[in-house]
Amino acid sequence: MVGGALGAGGLWARVGARAGGEFVNCFQHQDRVSVGLCKSCQRGLCPDCAVGFEDGLACRGRCEERVAALSALIERNVRVSPVAVGAPSLFVVPVLFLSMGLIFLVFGLSSDSRFTFAWILGLVLLGCGGIYWAIANRTRAALRGSSRP
Ligand SMILES: [Zn+2]
Ligand SMILES: [Zn+2]
Repeated sequence: MVGGALGAGGLWARVGARAGGEFVNCFQHQDRVSVGLCKSCQRGLCPDCAVGFEDGLACRGRCEERVAALSALIERNVRVSPVAVGAPSLFVVPVLFLSMGLIFLVFGLSSDSRFTFAWILGLVLLGCGGIYWAIANRTRAALRGSSRP
């Protein structure tokens, strides 16, 4: 009986390790290793507390509705930008925009008034970078959720 319990624990430990790369215990059952994290509140969930969605888990009776809404939202985004989903380097574009924006901003502000356009352009680039960053963040979260077995 003890051996069986240990065996089950080992199984969940392996599943948990594969999902997140680290051991997180269920937030309601501190003695159980979680099978994943809630997509909404990021808490560890054991099989009894988790509700499976297409691209993630939710706390049973707590975050189900929110995660369902979130999943629908991400699914729409993923369809709009399929290229970003396949790319392992999601943050290359936003980082590029943000760093270029910063360079233009600093250049424009530190130069004389002939280069006013530079910091305006810098602001525009920073704005674009921020938007791309938010998209990349959401896409990464979606990918993380769907990589779970
Ligand atoms: Zn939750
Ligand atoms: Zn639990």
